[in-house]
Amino acid sequence: MLVDYHTHTNLCKHADGVAEDYVRKALELGFDEVGCSDHSPLPNGFDPEHRMTLDEFAQFYRPMVDDVQKKFDKKIKVRFGIEADYLPGAEKYMKKFLEENDFDFVIGSVHFLGDWGFDNFKNVSRYEEKDVYEVYVEYFTTLRDAAASGMFDVVGHLDVVKVFGYRPNRDYDGVLREAMKAIKEHDLVVEINTAGLRKPIGEIYPSVKILEIIKEMKIPLTLGSDSHTPGDVGRDFDLAVELVRKYGDGRITVFDKRQRKEVSI
Ligand code: ZN
Ligand code: FE
Ligand code: FE
Repeated sequence: MLVDYHTHTNLCKHADGVAEDYVRKALELGFDEVGCSDHSPLPNGFDPEHRMTLDEFAQFYRPMVDDVQKKFDKKIKVRFGIEADYLPGAEKYMKKFLEENDFDFVIGSVHFLGDWGFDNFKNVSRYEEKDVYEVYVEYFTTLRDAAASGMFDVVGHLDVVKVFGYRPNRDYDGVLREAMKAIKEHDLVVEINTAGLRKPIGEIYPSVKILEIIKEMKIPLTLGSDSHTPGDVGRDFDLAVELVRKYGDGRITVFDKRQRKEVSI
């Protein structure tokens, strides 16, 4: 069984193609399921250049996923998901948004530290002004809070803070462990996300070091390409599958209306 549970659409304004293009690619690859998980709207027009609005969500995203679900019924399972931002201070907004919609699964991702969209290449210069160790501490502390918020099913690109290759010169195992403990305690699934291989860091999310902790803690896994263009659906999944075998006992988690099920790949 193969799935890709992390795909975007042009509604987020920084990806190409519509849901159908991503689904067709997954079908072509012989996948059993594909999850649509475009970026969630954010409160008060926060980062409107990279997000759809609530209106666009209701008017375009929901119906678009609905249509492909119907159109591809019996050919491939299309899951209705979202990649929701964890923004401290906006928990209420996000909680309400997630509760109001009948998602199959919700990916929770940390893309902002304060007002700094740290994984956006336009903002990369800010790393030079900071102590990279402090950035990692803030990132993994925020990720711990995201896991503890209880709002999400899947942890998105767990160690995305490494995206541009900045590495701290001090050991950050303590905060990393705290985050992993929260992920385990709150029963989240971690995605093996192949997008890091296409970024300056050139490494899968999460790193092998973190996958060792995942194995030790028996945290369940799922698979995502984080594709922002249809051609990237399922990209580098040969490696991802190998990692699932090694660190997840060959099992992945799939979702239906936020109910999970473990299956063998
Ligand atoms: Zn994106
Ligand atoms: Fe993301
Ligand atoms: Fe994403």
